[in-house]
Amino acid sequence: MMYRRSQRGIARLTTIVIGVILAVGGTSAATKPADCVQPPVKGSRWTWAQGARVSVTIDPEFIDIPGGYQALVEALRRWESAGSGDGNGSGVTFDVLDFGAAPPVGATLRISRGTLRTGGQARVSLWSASGSIVRASCVIDERVTNPLALLQVAVHEIGHTFGLAECDECEYRSSVMTRSSGVDYNDTTSGAGWPSACDNAAVRENGGY
Ligand SMILES: [Zn+2]
Repeated sequence: MMYRRSQRGIARLTTIVIGVILAVGGTSAATKPADCVQPPVKGSRWTWAQGARVSVTIDPEFIDIPGGYQALVEALRRWESAGSGDGNGSGVTFDVLDFGAAPPVGATLRISRGTLRTGGQARVSLWSASGSIVRASCVIDERVTNPLALLQVAVHEIGHTFGLAECDECEYRSSVMTRSSGVDYNDTTSGAGWPSACDNAAVRENGGY
């Protein structure tokens, strides 16, 4: 009789412990909307390592566009703040280097200006080593001159460095990974300014953060 009772006691204690774990797990999952359409992902080697400190060089030509340079810095800051524990959990930080600074060591992101003959507002090339991105180079077409368009383009391209691909299923504004209209280089109606909860959920799952 005593033996049975103590068994039951152990069973109840086990239930309580499992319940607590589920409750903790449920808290972080609650940040993801129920009707979330997540952008496709490219695998964990196509995102920054967790906690990476990425050195960023920005082409000085962006200073010639009123608000242009600031828009790029703001796009980086938004992804950085999205990396918190209740965001995507990447913990990635971006250090924008001064012009003429010594060559960076470690993970790097370069944002430059150019003319994309293949069309599109921008393009990003990625290099992966030891399971994560170590270098990214983004070229933004010189016909993108509106600061808000620049911000949206930069937020989209940085999204590629977090393992996200184009999202054809995502509605405009619901993700930074929607495609642009493809006609107007300064279109600001089809993009988004902030990584969404759906974007962050995809980044977290893909990166294992
Ligand atoms: Zn893209």
